[in-house]
Amino acid sequence: MGEIANDLTDDMMAIEAVRGTGADIDPERDEEPEDEIFCPYCDKPATLVTGEIIYPHRLDLYEKQFWYCELCNAYVGCHGLTSMPLGTMANADLRSWRKAAHNAFDSLWKGKGRKVRSSSYSILANILGIDLDDCHIGQMDIAMCKSVIEAVKNSKESTTT
Ligand SMILES: [Zn+2]
Repeated sequence: MGEIANDLTDDMMAIEAVRGTGADIDPERDEEPEDEIFCPYCDKPATLVTGEIIYPHRLDLYEKQFWYCELCNAYVGCHGLTSMPLGTMANADLRSWRKAAHNAFDSLWKGKGRKVRSSSYSILANILGIDLDDCHIGQMDIAMCKSVIEAVKNSKESTTT
């Protein structure tokens, strides 16, 4: 059973890409398709590909679109079936930091419901000194991910009795 859970964690970015994170999606916003995105690592234009390229073992993601730079092995998933990116492109290193930040953050609210989840986001944004609207792990860089992990660690230590 533990192995299944690990496998799911590995695919968390994919799952997030499918569902969106809820808070990320503003229904009022006009979802204009993006026609060009540049890789933040090499500054070359990224290619719009389907999930078949990024997650060949995930048939359920084949319809999804991803901005992808083969050279840097960097990508980002898109909202719904659009070409609007969910965050910024990430290479393997940043993806693993975001995953770690997600795991840390999720441990604060998982199983406690959506209310606790959204208040956890508010607290996190506050600690990081950023706008709640900007508080998306999918948009964070490595330094910010480290701050998230640190903030979660501190908050756990302070609530341990
Ligand atoms: Zn690149």
